[in-house]
Amino acid sequence: MIDLRSDTVTRPSHAMLEAMMAAPTGDDVYGDDPTVNALQDYAARLAGKQAALFLPTGTQANLVGLMSHCARGEEYIVGQLAHNYLYEAGGAAVLGSIQPQPIDNAPDGSLPLDKVAARIKADDVHFARTKLLSLENTFNGKVLPVEYLKQAWEFTRQRSLKLHVDGARLFNAVTEYGGTLEEVTRYCDSLTICLSKGLGAPAGSLLLGDEEYIQRARRWRKMAGGGMRQVGILAAAGLYALHNNVQRLKDDHANAAWLAKALREIGADVIRQDTNMVFVRIPGEEVAPLGEYMKQHNILISSAPVTRLVTHLDTPRQALGEVIERWQAFIRQ
Ligand SMILES: *Cc1c(COP(=O)(O)O)cnc(C)c1O
Repeated sequence: MIDLRSDTVTRPSHAMLEAMMAAPTGDDVYGDDPTVNALQDYAARLAGKQAALFLPTGTQANLVGLMSHCARGEEYIVGQLAHNYLYEAGGAAVLGSIQPQPIDNAPDGSLPLDKVAARIKADDVHFARTKLLSLENTFNGKVLPVEYLKQAWEFTRQRSLKLHVDGARLFNAVTEYGGTLEEVTRYCDSLTICLSKGLGAPAGSLLLGDEEYIQRARRWRKMAGGGMRQVGILAAAGLYALHNNVQRLKDDHANAAWLAKALREIGADVIRQDTNMVFVRIPGEEVAPLGEYMKQHNILISSAPVTRLVTHLDTPRQALGEVIERWQAFIRQ
């Protein structure tokens, strides 16, 4: 199967599985798992933050991250289309009693700071207390401009807000910037990173921030049911991913660019390509048949009026060549 639905579908390589088998473990709720500790220390060093926390999913990492910034009756300003507003089942509101204040994302994925400023509430009994600005990078594949990150950082310092970055795919952004992780994480108080997407681990995310913040997060993680025991076997996959699968993200981006170009050449209506994502417009009557046809030929896509194709470490160039052949055959029939 060639699976272009998401980069979450990557499976652990043989070498990653070997690293998992060899991992020393302990009870992580006691802080005793040496592999989890090694992963957290390594990630914190890469991001230039004091501490890191390993969690089972990005959704839980965002929830715990928000709850560690905002108490009951406080609010975070977030994009209408942000994962930690729209795609996490309302967790911050339901489980954290935190009020989201969504605003429209600009086309580049940023939240215009004048619009953010207009939503910051005065200290008044009528209002929730505004505590946090939450950004997402990459956003639907788009890389937020570094200049914007700097401005958002300075803005939040002036307005006494904290700044959180949902960086599920932050390494994809760093790949485009061409610098180090720390060069962007210096512009936030906290961030999350998914190990289970383009980095290829079977599960796991990280939340990073200062020592005191991560200490609070540890309690919320326990409450959310995310305190795992001999979880070094998963942390080993994460460590393997950070050591071996970051540099190669540029191949995914090059493959996505190649795929976009090849699709355009056979007449497909490619809207855009950013990092490891390609968006293609499909005529309404072809949406279901295209999905079916591809599936019959062992290619999985999330066929939709705007279809997102995601490249990752299990979609080598040769596999993408097959996708193009099949797509062309579908158009011709
Ligand atoms: C995938 C993703 C998450 C978290 O997803 P999980 O499936 O819970 O690990 C969070 N934010 C963004 C932007 C994502 O793409």
